[in-house]
Order: sequence, then structure tokens, then C-alpha cells
Amino acid sequence: MTDTAQTARTAIVTGAARGIGAAIARRLAEDGYAVAVLDLDAGACAETVATITDAGGRAIAVGANVADATAVAAAVAQVAEELGAPTILINNAGIIRDNLLFKMTEEDWDAVLTVHLRGAFLMSREVQKHQVEAGWGRIVNLSSTSALGNRGQANYAAAKAGMQGLTKTLAIELGRYGVTANAIAPGFIVTDMTRSTAERVGVGFDEFIEATAKTIPVGRAGYPSDIAAAASFFCSEGAGFVSGQVLYVAGGPRA
Ligand code: NAP
Repeated sequence: MTDTAQTARTAIVTGAARGIGAAIARRLAEDGYAVAVLDLDAGACAETVATITDAGGRAIAVGANVADATAVAAAVAQVAEELGAPTILINNAGIIRDNLLFKMTEEDWDAVLTVHLRGAFLMSREVQKHQVEAGWGRIVNLSSTSALGNRGQANYAAAKAGMQGLTKTLAIELGRYGVTANAIAPGFIVTDMTRSTAERVGVGFDEFIEATAKTIPVGRAGYPSDIAAAASFFCSEGAGFVSGQVLYVAGGPRA
């Protein structure tokens, strides 16, 4: 694969206004792809888009709720029209609604399952049309170490374990069309999501990061760029024989 051919490829990164999604969008742009920065509010994507275009890359902001089938179809069509057929999809959009089981509401259960699982399903179903037509594609789904179980996260753990089953099934169904599907399961990553967890448990964020780092074998918290590096690998030409895998990016073997 030449650099020119790689430049022609288009990636969609969901939940890319901030955090891990923004870092993945920036990294994929550095790798030479045109990038659709998708989030609930297109306006919120402006900073990520500007960072990419200021560095000489190609990017557009796209507003869509990944759990809304009509919005997803319109968003993917917009990307195909403005940047070219999307053949790389990063299903990163996510929310948390943590609570112990006995206090968890049905709304909080449904909201988390809907954004992560229904969102990844709808986005993958829409983008695979372009991937199958191109005979090439990459899907990277964001799971989590919470897939292995985490106190206060029955909804999120179920969603993130579900992302692993979805990933393996996409790998089996789409492999014959040159499409790989893999999952990244991050451990503790410094973002607004973990900041809100610190707030919920009543600990300052710096203190929370420091305490968590002590439990991680490499002795530090993770950063969005750590996840972006893994996503970059899964999207690369060289990863074409790697499919249906779950890569734990957690500074050690366990959460
Ligand atoms: P974040 O900072 O909260 O960013 C998530 C982004 O997703 C936000 O911009 C959010 O938009 C967007 N989003 C939420 N619902 C959406 C929807 N329905 N449609 C489109 N976009 C939506 O989270 P993060 O920490 O970067 O996490 C990114 C992914 O990594 C998530 O899937 C998360 O579960 C996973 N992960 C994170 C960690 C961690 O330690 N941070 C660990 C393991 C896995 P709004 O701002 O408008 O809500």
C-alpha cells in the first residue's frame, strides 16, 4: 500500500469531540486518513477538526446520535459525499451511568446499552456497505477492562462485554470482504469520563489518578494517546491478518 492510496481512505471516529475519540481522530489523520469527527453535537467537534486541519490533515465535523438509525444513515452518507467512502470505523462513543445494582434504574441500564451496543451495531451496519464495496475495511470497537466485571457498572460491564461479542461476530461475517474487526479494552484512561467517576466517589481527580496509578503495573495512568496508538495499529495495512481480537491496553494484564 502506498502513501497515496492510504491518503484516499476515510475514517469515521464516533464520540470524537473529546477524550479517547479525539486522540484517535488526530492519530488517524497523522497516519494519512481523511477523518470524520462524529459526535452528538457537530459544534463540539470544532476543536478536534481544527487540530487536524491546522496540522495539514483532512477532517470534517459530523453531528449524529449513534443510537439513532436515521441520523446514522444521514451521517455516513454525508461522510461519503464530503470525504469519500468510509472504510475505517472506530466505534468509540460512550457514556457511563454508574450505580450499584439495587439503585440502578431501568433508564440508566437502557441508556448505556443503547449508546454502546445499539450505536456500534447501527454504525457498523451502515459503514459495512462501503467496506464490502471497497473489498477492504477496518472496524475498531471500544470495549473496556470493565467487561470483566466492575462494581457499580452492571450496565457498562454488560455493554463492554457485548462489544467483544459483536467484534468477534463482525470479524467472522466480514472477513471474506477484506474487513477486519477488533476491540480495544482500555484500563484507566485520563479523560472527562474518569474525571466524572472521581467526582462521583468524592475524590479530587489528581488524587484519584495518583491512587489508581499505584495499582497499575507500569506505574502510571493511561492517556488517550495510548489508545490511539493501538487503534492506529488495528487500522494499518500490516494488521490485515489480525481480526476478532481484544487488546487490553491497561498497563498490565488486569484491570
Ligand atoms: P468521554 O470523554 O466521555 O467522551 C465520549 C464522547 O462520546 C463524548 O464526546 C460524548 O458526547 C460522545 N457521545 C456520547 N453519547 C453519544 C452518542 N449517542 N452519539 C454520539 N456521540 C456520543 O469518554 P472517553 O473516556 O473518551 O471514552 C471513550 C470510549 O472509551 C468510550 O466508549 C468508553 O466507554 C471507553 N473507555 C474509556 C475508559 C476511560 O478510562 N476513560 C476506559 C475504558 C473504555 P457528549 O460530550 O455530548 O456526551
